[in-house]
Amino acid sequence: MDANSIEADLVRVLCTEEQIQERLAELAQEVWEHYEGEDLLLVGVLKGAVMVMADFMRHLPGSAPMDWMAVSSYGSGTKSSGVVRILKDLDADITGKHVLIVEDIIDSGLTLSWIRTNLLSRSPASVEVLTLLRKPDAAKVEVETRWVGFDIPNEFVVGYGLDYAEGYRGLREVATLAPHVYS
Ligand code: IMP
Ligand code: MG
Repeated sequence: MDANSIEADLVRVLCTEEQIQERLAELAQEVWEHYEGEDLLLVGVLKGAVMVMADFMRHLPGSAPMDWMAVSSYGSGTKSSGVVRILKDLDADITGKHVLIVEDIIDSGLTLSWIRTNLLSRSPASVEVLTLLRKPDAAKVEVETRWVGFDIPNEFVVGYGLDYAEGYRGLREVATLAPHVYS
């Protein structure tokens, strides 16, 4: 679906399909040059990063394997607590590999910070982070994020993998959700 088809549920589009693809293409080029000749593994965090991974990977000028983790973060409601449980672990052993975590959004950064520490304990060659979106609060936690697609305002957004109550993940754009939807 696109923003026009669910206009009443949205306030405004923050990133169009074209903007997302253009930015992911730029990032893919930078990432490829950074890891030239290295053993790179892309690690996605389910489920939000599914779209970013699929498109980012197709913009890479060469091939890199992907793996997935699923985590649940304990906490009340919409705020993440930073206490994380692994629901699905990586298939691969990452010892000696250059790991690039591919994320949809960094809000408080607590979940990602936990994942990064967890992966670093498995003796990889390196762990870096790429995120499509970053909110201002991400600055509060020291999560080194080497590649950021877009810095966005502190608003609740949906689309391009991001959900509200499991809905809207299939929206082609990233848009702010209208308050009447969640009240
Ligand atoms: P945090 O960085 O630990 O606060 O949590 C980040 C996670 O919360 C992301 O991976 C998303 O799943 C979710 N999240 C944060 N902000 C939004 C939003 O605006 N829309 C949808 N999900 C969000
Ligand atoms: Mg997520």
